[in-house]
Amino acid sequence: MRCPFCKKDNDKVIDTRPSEDASVIRRRRECLACNKRFTTHERLEEMPVRVVKKSGRREPFDREKILGGVMRAVEKRSISLEEVETLVGAIEREVLDQSDREISSRDIGELVMAKLRTVDEVAYVRFASVYREYQALEEFITEIRTFNPGGGGSRAGANGNA
Ligand SMILES: [Zn+2]
Repeated sequence: MRCPFCKKDNDKVIDTRPSEDASVIRRRRECLACNKRFTTHERLEEMPVRVVKKSGRREPFDREKILGGVMRAVEKRSISLEEVETLVGAIEREVLDQSDREISSRDIGELVMAKLRTVDEVAYVRFASVYREYQALEEFITEIRTFNPGGGGSRAGANGNA
C-alpha cells in the first residue's frame, strides 16, 4: 500500500478490523519509510476468498456460480428474483466472513442447501441432487489423479507452495 505522505510502498499493518456490515476491512498502517500512520479501507472484493475443491485445487470464489445454481434450483417455483438475491447475498456474506480467506466447496454446498431449505423444499431437493452428483464427479476425478499422479498433466508446480 502506497504511503499517502511520502508515496513509498513500504508499510506494515498495525491493526485490522471489519466495518459493521463486514463488507469493508479497515486497516491501520504504519509507513516504514517515514513512520507516519494512515488508514485504508479495503472492500472485500479486493481480498478474494478462495474455494478449495475436493481435488485440492483452488479457485476464486464466484458469486455468479452460486446464483446460477440457485436459479436453476428455483426454476418454476414461486420464488421471486428478489428472494433469490437475498438468499445469495446471505450466502456470500457468510463465505466472505471466513477469516482464513478459504472455504471448501463442500462447506459452500452445505451452506447453500441449508439456506435453500428454509425457502423452498423442492428447490432444496433439486439443488442437493445436482450438488451430490457434482461431489461424486469431483471424487472420481480425484481418484483418477491418485491412480495416475502427474500423468499427462501440464500443471507443473501446482502444489509447489502449499
Ligand atoms: Zn511514508
